[in-house]
Amino acid sequence: MATRIHPTAEVSPEATVGDGTNIWHWVQVREGARIGRDCRIGKDVYIDKDVTVGDGCKIQNFATIYEGVTLGNRVFVGPHAVFTNDMYPRAFSPDWEIVPTKVEDGASIGANATILCGITIGRSAMIAAGAVVTKDVPPHALVAGVPAKVVGWVCECGRQLDAKNWCAHCQKTVSVSRPKARRRRRG
Ligand SMILES: [Zn+2]
Repeated sequence: MATRIHPTAEVSPEATVGDGTNIWHWVQVREGARIGRDCRIGKDVYIDKDVTVGDGCKIQNFATIYEGVTLGNRVFVGPHAVFTNDMYPRAFSPDWEIVPTKVEDGASIGANATILCGITIGRSAMIAAGAVVTKDVPPHALVAGVPAKVVGWVCECGRQLDAKNWCAHCQKTVSVSRPKARRRRRG
């Protein structure tokens, strides 16, 4: 399938865009960015220098994806979600270093979420809308809040699993490795 880039989008000639990908109005894709096949890049999205976006990703309107970020395949990024790439943000920082962030296959990032840098978001994890993610998210975890905490576990389909890792929607058990519950000591 052909790649479609809206005339108002600004895609660097030094970026690559895969077959079947649609890039909508006013998107900016910087030099060195690599976007896979069959992606949907919504209106006003910003994709910075050297960012990698896998195949089959859906990036919603106004999301901003800065240098240092790597998205796997089938990653969903909700509207207005923002990635950061600077541990010590100052207007003047002569020794600024980019801190990489990775989002694994099938993970979703809710609307307006903020992802701090140096983080890995695990496979099929789900970031709730408005969450501020400050540390690694395990595969299949559902995290919410500011700062984001694990509040549940989800299937590949996005629905929550019960205590036995069963997805009632898909009628299957999902393999997730939950951290062991800590025992409280008495006294
Ligand atoms: Zn499911």
